[in-house]
Amino acid sequence: MSETLYLTEQLLTRASLTPADLGCQDLIAERLTPLGFTCETMVSGPADFRVTNLWAIRRAALADAKTLVFAGHTDVVPTGPLNEWHSAPFAPTHRDGKLFGRGASDMKTSLAAFVVAIEDFLRSTPEPQLNIALLLTSDEEGPANDGTVVVCKALQARGEKLDYCIVGEPTSVERTGDMIKNGRRGSLSGKLTVRGLQGHIAYPHMAKNPIHLVAPAMAELVTIQWDEGNAFFPPTTWQISNFHAGTGAGNVIPGSAVIDFNFRFSTESTVSSLQQRLKAVLDAHQLEYSLDWVVGGLPFLTTPGTLVDAVCQAILRETGLQTQLSTTGGTSDGRFIAQICPQVIELGPPNATIHQINEYVNVADIEPLKNIYQRVLENLNRQATA
Ligand SMILES: [Zn+2]
Repeated sequence: MSETLYLTEQLLTRASLTPADLGCQDLIAERLTPLGFTCETMVSGPADFRVTNLWAIRRAALADAKTLVFAGHTDVVPTGPLNEWHSAPFAPTHRDGKLFGRGASDMKTSLAAFVVAIEDFLRSTPEPQLNIALLLTSDEEGPANDGTVVVCKALQARGEKLDYCIVGEPTSVERTGDMIKNGRRGSLSGKLTVRGLQGHIAYPHMAKNPIHLVAPAMAELVTIQWDEGNAFFPPTTWQISNFHAGTGAGNVIPGSAVIDFNFRFSTESTVSSLQQRLKAVLDAHQLEYSLDWVVGGLPFLTTPGTLVDAVCQAILRETGLQTQLSTTGGTSDGRFIAQICPQVIELGPPNATIHQINEYVNVADIEPLKNIYQRVLENLNRQATA
């Protein structure tokens, strides 16, 4: 059996539901320590939501060597109804060339591939000119307040310099390597409360209906072209997720309306530009309102350069595929790492079944992923010694 497949199965047997790690990181640290890694566990979060993070680094002899970080998460999302799984979610099972288990594609296969790629690389290159690091968290699928962001802040405080990062999120579509993410859109959420005046529905002149007041503004907001995107990002979108108003009674004009909305935004817009433009519409409609904002993540972009080249070439050599660069999908921990690392890309196995019942990875996608990671190590090391 392949080393990567074996380690993937070992990780899959651990029911590491967010924010539990259940020994996944210890298992990985045990493999890395004999290779010269210094492994540091950083526990964070309140007593009822303990997050385990691992920062492991193997420093090259060269004083100013560049650092490549492999980043990912050991936590998984809940299984959903157990009776809908064809095999137990934490008992890795093979059927039809597929390996089933919660976390098979998101993202324990990538974690195993990181480890075995590093082992194989160091066997053939025992003294690389590259620092190799691993940043793992057990809080990526949860609120992500005590995970990668905490490690990034600690590294920043120490002046630890990162140069390249590969996040192992499942980015591929049909086959490992057919798509990578070289950025992600930003996410900005808002809660809008529009005030009216509650009253009897038969006496509207004595009330102010906030639904009627806000409707024209909403109609305008849904038609706005916030930006046109650019070569790497689709245009920014604005969507309403919840609209609440009314007392439940049929004869009462409500006193207020509450609207939840979200921007997914490109690098052509900023948090403040979007906030200002939205407020300008509300003001033009002379609404009485308040707004609460939450920045879910800033957008990031890694333009073609050393890391993208190293990854594209590794994929081409291993699979024959010309990979596609994409910035679609939700936010990822890449948003935190990009704050302290100039080049971040995401590369992992196909993502068709992530978070679903009967999540799986094709066994045929596992070894190529390990080989691609290993080739990236080789490519970047060759760059460093050139
Ligand atoms: Zn994930």
